[in-house]
Amino acid sequence: MAGLFAILFLVALMIALALFLSARKQRAQTGLPYGARIVYADTGAWKKVERPLFSRRYGLTGKPDYVMEERGAMIPVEVKPNRVAPAPRESDTLQLAAYALLVEEHFGATPAYGLLKYRDAIFQVELTDELRARLLATLAALRRDLDARDVARSHAEPRRCRACGYRDVCGQSLA
Ligand code: SF4
Repeated sequence: MAGLFAILFLVALMIALALFLSARKQRAQTGLPYGARIVYADTGAWKKVERPLFSRRYGLTGKPDYVMEERGAMIPVEVKPNRVAPAPRESDTLQLAAYALLVEEHFGATPAYGLLKYRDAIFQVELTDELRARLLATLAALRRDLDARDVARSHAEPRRCRACGYRDVCGQSLA
C-alpha cells in the first residue's frame, strides 16, 4: 500500500512540475515580467478568452491582451509580437490608454502605467493625465468623423493603403 502511495505521489509531483515548466515557458515567450499575477487574458495561452471589457461612461469596448495585478495595481498589457520599433507608436500608446480606461471602469482602479510588448522590447507607458486628455480628444474627433461626409487621410503610409479594404472606393489611397 505504501508503495502505491509513493507511486501516486511521484506521478502527481511530475504532473505539477510539467504544468509549472509549461506555464513558465509560456510566460517567458510573452516576455511579461515575473512576480505579476495575470487576472485577465485574451490570448488563450494561459487562460480562456474573457469577454471584452466595456465602459458605459466612455462608450468604449475592447480586449487587452492581458491585465496583470502587481502589488494591488491593475496593469493593461498589449502584445504586438511582430512590431519592431525603438519607441512606442502613437497608435499603440493610445490603444493602451483606451484599455486603461476600460480597466479603470471594470476593476475600479486607475492604472498608473501599461506595458507594450513589441518583438524585442517591453515599453512601460506612463498613463498620465496628458495622455488621457489626448485619448479623449482623439475619441471625440473619431466620433465627429463618423458623421462627416468626407474625412481626410490621416497618414502617409502606402503599406496601410495596400492592406485596406476601402482602397477601391477611398479616393485618397496611396496604393
Ligand atoms: S485606402 Fe483610404 S481609407 Fe484605406 S488606409 Fe488608405 S487612405 Fe485610409
